[in-house]
Amino acid sequence: MTMIGIDIGGTNFRIGAVDDNGTLLKFDKVPVKTILHSGDVLADLAETIRSFSENMEIEAAAIGFPATLNADRSAVIQAPNIPFMENLPVCEILSEKLGIPVYAERDVTYALCYDMAKYHVDEAGITCGIYYGTGIGNAIAINGIPLVGRHGTAGELGHIPVAGSEEPCGCGNKGCLEAAAGGKALAKLQREQFPETEIKDLFLRHADDPKLAEFLNLMSLAAATEINILDPDHVLIGGGVFNMNGFPMETFREKIMEKVRKPLPYNDLDLIFTEDEREKCVIGAAAYAKKEMNTKK
Ligand SMILES: [Zn+2]
Repeated sequence: MTMIGIDIGGTNFRIGAVDDNGTLLKFDKVPVKTILHSGDVLADLAETIRSFSENMEIEAAAIGFPATLNADRSAVIQAPNIPFMENLPVCEILSEKLGIPVYAERDVTYALCYDMAKYHVDEAGITCGIYYGTGIGNAIAINGIPLVGRHGTAGELGHIPVAGSEEPCGCGNKGCLEAAAGGKALAKLQREQFPETEIKDLFLRHADDPKLAEFLNLMSLAAATEINILDPDHVLIGGGVFNMNGFPMETFREKIMEKVRKPLPYNDLDLIFTEDEREKCVIGAAAYAKKEMNTKK
């Protein structure tokens, strides 16, 4: 079985063909704006998938969005970075156009699928994935099944409120954690406080600055909050922020641990820091599609 995995971000469109063993057979990454040209988003997407998978025997496709999706995972509800995807019957139309099952999920769910396989995480129990990128992404799997919630919006960890913050967030609210501790907030901090330093070198050059220490502290609130609510079996942490030069991983781990409930889960916490890989969501999407097909047979 060959599956197509897709990851649509605010800037880039990533697509991959993955075989039964999880091996990436073909991969492409292009700016989103280069594939959308006709004004009909779903027609453009179908055309892109078709030409990418020409001469391949494709069983199914799964698409990941940095967005909230409806509970039955057939449409995107809100996507501040890709508003053109909102409220379209994505799965139904693409499935019709391509003649294969098409699934949709949040990109972080695919990242968690990938990481659970890579780090040999047992599906039994509660597994949390927390991904620090432009925002703070979160996926929760219970016995291997993603937690969706009543409306589809479970796991919005980036949007828990921070006391005293009035920072506007992409979701429309003010004071969300990701507006204070996500990549966008870090970029703002760099512009305003460290204009002489390139963002990738912020931690390398200013690790001891109180403003960066506070940023790290706010980042750790996300992980500690989820750990204290769920008492998870496994916690996987990843995202592009950790690729920054000199990111103080050990300090970050300490900041999380100092907020985790004692004596448990503190004394027995399975905290795994994962590598950031550009194909992560694409391969995870293909694995998700394979699993969905097998459960619906
Ligand atoms: Zn928000």
